[in-house]
Amino acid sequence: MSEWLQCIGCERRYDVMEIRYTCDCGDLLNVERDSFPNRDVFEARRTSRRTIDQSGVWRFREAVLDVAETEIVTHPEGATRMYSRRENVGRTLQSDDCDQRVGLESPTYVSSRLPIHFKHEGENPTGSFKDRGMTVAMTQAKRLGARGVACASTGNTSASLAAYAAQAGIRAVVFIPAGKVATGKLAQTLAYGATALHVRGDFDAAMTLVREACDKLGIYLVNSINPFRIEGQKTIVWELLQDLEWNAPDWIVVPAGNLGNTSAFGKALREAFDAGWITTMPRLASIQASGANPFFRSYRDSFATRHKITAETIASAIRIGDPVSHAKAVTAIQQTNGIVEEVTDDELMAAKREIDEMGIGCEPASATTLAGVKKLRAAGIMRDGERIVCVLTGHLLKDADSILRNVPKERTIEIDPTIEAVERALDQP
Ligand SMILES: *Cc1c(COP(=O)(O)O)cnc(C)c1O
Repeated sequence: MSEWLQCIGCERRYDVMEIRYTCDCGDLLNVERDSFPNRDVFEARRTSRRTIDQSGVWRFREAVLDVAETEIVTHPEGATRMYSRRENVGRTLQSDDCDQRVGLESPTYVSSRLPIHFKHEGENPTGSFKDRGMTVAMTQAKRLGARGVACASTGNTSASLAAYAAQAGIRAVVFIPAGKVATGKLAQTLAYGATALHVRGDFDAAMTLVREACDKLGIYLVNSINPFRIEGQKTIVWELLQDLEWNAPDWIVVPAGNLGNTSAFGKALREAFDAGWITTMPRLASIQASGANPFFRSYRDSFATRHKITAETIASAIRIGDPVSHAKAVTAIQQTNGIVEEVTDDELMAAKREIDEMGIGCEPASATTLAGVKKLRAAGIMRDGERIVCVLTGHLLKDADSILRNVPKERTIEIDPTIEAVERALDQP
């Protein structure tokens, strides 16, 4: 048996072809395997023209899912860009008030410029990292002969599920908190052909309901409680390590909502280290919005308590009060000597404006990363010279409303079609 499902608590094993998301003891399951290839295998695939090699997920297939190539449901996904920036981040250490800069003047930069990398997972086919997990979960769904797939979602999982289900020819149903999903994500989900159930309640209520519905109706659940999702999301870390020629950074920073990514990153790092792909272990920094911070609260009391809260934040992708992957995420933080931080909505939106104005752009939840870096640098936890990779989880256009609500009025001006009007408009301070 080269791959199996294994309980993270009692370590009981199950066959990979068994449809289950948790152990009989109630704990979460991981996909485990007994061997990992040499990392050289992945290098040649970067220049290959084959679809599964071009996928930033299936390039790592020996360590993701052992499945016949013909069964793989891939767009392809991954192979996202890594952006490196210095000056703009340095600038913001001088002044946190971005609104001070006006007109066409160039901003002033501070002299100490700090390097930072952004791995942009918003560049996946449906605009978020969720595609990395979905390609694997949908491949497994097809392999199991599922007739329907479902998830609860703050929007991005829905969009991803809908796109991959369309490709696989499987019926898609999404459970979303009514009125709480960004317009772009909902439109995408419907466009790809999914059925949306608008649940009168928050994400956590939708999550509870979808689990019950899947059990009762025989629909395959592809939330990140599904261990195959986690296997796909590991490749965010492996690909960024490969981008850095396997010189591990000091820190990897990730937004934290339902904690699937935090869990996946921890597993990816552990496996990369054990397989000898990297020789130093990066520290994981998981960042929550302060209005949706149950994991931060647990971290603060040394994980003695699992907190559940009613979540509220502008970053709707991480508006989650009872994260499903809590237990795996605790292990991820512990095994990477990681930390958990929280940032306010004002802090994350200020960071979002900076990322946007670097010409990179992201949705609000993704900007918790830069906001967290600022806080951790100010606290002396992240030190000058340390190499940092922030993972941007979602595309700028996913949540256009959050931008348009906050545009400074001197930057959007309606004018008559005359040159005088143009001059007047651009003259204003
Ligand atoms: C899903 C999502 C998150 C949260 O990831 P988790 O794995 O649930 O912690 C963060 N940002 C964006 C854009 C997302 O879509």
